[in-house]
Amino acid sequence: MLQVHPNNNPSSESADLRDPGSHLDSRWANVPSEQWQDWHWQLANRIRTLEELRDLVQLTPDEEIGIRRATERFRMEITPYFAKLMDPNDSTCPIRRQVIPSAAELLVTHSERVDPLAEKEHTPVPGIIHRYPDRVLFYPTIHCAAYCRFCTRSRIVGHVEETIPFHELERAFEYLSAHHEIRDVVISGGDPLTIGDAKLEALISRLRSIEHVELLRIHTRVPIFLPQRITPKLTDMLKKYHPLFMSIHVNHAKELTPEATQACAQLADAGIPLGGQTVLLKGINDNVATMKKLMHELLKVAGTSHMRANVNTGIEIIENLRGHTSGYAIPTFVIDTPEGGGKIPIGPEYLISNKNGHIVLRNYRNEVYEYVDQEDGPTD
Ligand SMILES: *Cc1c(COP(=O)(O)O)cnc(C)c1O
Ligand code: SF4
Repeated sequence: MLQVHPNNNPSSESADLRDPGSHLDSRWANVPSEQWQDWHWQLANRIRTLEELRDLVQLTPDEEIGIRRATERFRMEITPYFAKLMDPNDSTCPIRRQVIPSAAELLVTHSERVDPLAEKEHTPVPGIIHRYPDRVLFYPTIHCAAYCRFCTRSRIVGHVEETIPFHELERAFEYLSAHHEIRDVVISGGDPLTIGDAKLEALISRLRSIEHVELLRIHTRVPIFLPQRITPKLTDMLKKYHPLFMSIHVNHAKELTPEATQACAQLADAGIPLGGQTVLLKGINDNVATMKKLMHELLKVAGTSHMRANVNTGIEIIENLRGHTSGYAIPTFVIDTPEGGGKIPIGPEYLISNKNGHIVLRNYRNEVYEYVDQEDGPTD
């Protein structure tokens, strides 16, 4: 069911084009493979400073300012594995732009808020966001494997002072146990897969023991930032807690390396249904070709997909996918509304008019069709 895409190895593809002055390839050349494959090593050796990064890629003045200033507000950490996917000479590289701050990050526009989704208002106890009637977001950690510059939770994520000590999660469990209407728990963060196996199992088994919680979902970017984390030990543990779904945050086809694809395959082989979530990012993936490629690649490793943000571009992308490619490759485009309105699906309008059961529609080629609705539903 899952295949590893043979033509998707960005590191070998661009190796020859690299600036000989860049140490991206040589920096970790002497790291033994067991170490490189060890997720603890990857986390411990993350790139955190301007000096380290300058040694790896040709930073632009804009990036230098970004790193100097923005990291005071929101930390920069990049796993060696993900850093190696960066193009050392091209600052428009989609991998680079997601994890290296730019000076523009310092400008907070009028419509940007510290808490854009008004999550604070919907936080009854630490670690829980309860916005929808039957499901909650549970965030047991504020840590991620690497930090995305566009994170909507940057007020919490990566800030040590926002850490919820493990024993304080007790209140979250009590809340979940007391609210019988909650049948679905989205385990998010931070990134829940940055938690070690033992603690993670303690959390998941605790959630599983709440009878009315039917569904568990893990939202993660770990298969992309740190595929080494997906070990047989982890998947064997997760297997015990079905039904367990996973939604993987992927923004560009370049992220779907053989390693990431393999990690997704291991999760799927453990019987975990995979979904994808993509954030629509200006200059990174907000055009039809890039998004189509991503959706096609994603379809090989995951099932369904969600996409968030920039409205007109988003609608245009959906317009150019629907009818033009497999229905399974078309994400649901949602806007996560400010002030806590939740996610609202939007898309191109295909309904031209709907009067007295007379429906006028257009198809993906803009051809108009009429359809007469039955007054009473069909009888059988
Ligand atoms: C996205 C989200 C969910 C899950 O929503 P679905 O539409 O079921 O994927 C739940 N709670 C919060 C606060 C969310 O932001
Ligand atoms: S992985 Fe998710 S929570 Fe972590 S920084 Fe990226 S967007 Fe934010």
